[in-house]
Amino acid sequence: MIPKLNIRTYGDPVLRKKASAVLHVGSSERMLIKAMWVAMYENKGVGLAAPQVGISQQIFVADVGDGPIAIINPKILKKSGSEKMEEGCLSIPDIKLSIRRPKEILVQYTDENNQKIERHLTDLLARVFMHENDHLNGKLIIDYATLAQKARLRKKLLDIKNKVH
Ligand SMILES: [Zn+2]
Repeated sequence: MIPKLNIRTYGDPVLRKKASAVLHVGSSERMLIKAMWVAMYENKGVGLAAPQVGISQQIFVADVGDGPIAIINPKILKKSGSEKMEEGCLSIPDIKLSIRRPKEILVQYTDENNQKIERHLTDLLARVFMHENDHLNGKLIIDYATLAQKARLRKKLLDIKNKVH
């Protein structure tokens, strides 16, 4: 039985915590990953990080159209280029922000079978990787907003926050 996960939204302190590294990917981590894949598809997301379901561990899942992947203990080794792209976040519903990030990255992570992987990522997968990696560091897309954007989003963010408690 795969447990059903609830998406935590802006205002929940777990989203601001730095997630802890996973020492070994065992059956409970694999169960969590399966449940995160289900929650990601149910919510029509392209990525989902463990803190977004209330678990402060360095795990995220993604699917940019070529099947589900699981990323554990990610590290970004190299970044290059720069590109603006619109991003949304399941934890901050109805808000979209155009964010400038590197275009290509070299990453290292462990997968759900404890395999160490090094990969060069571009385009949407690179984007999702950086967005989800931010979640593991307690960082959210609104942290990239300009003062003008922050002013514009203030009311919406307050509404999301007030729904949490
Ligand atoms: Zn997000």
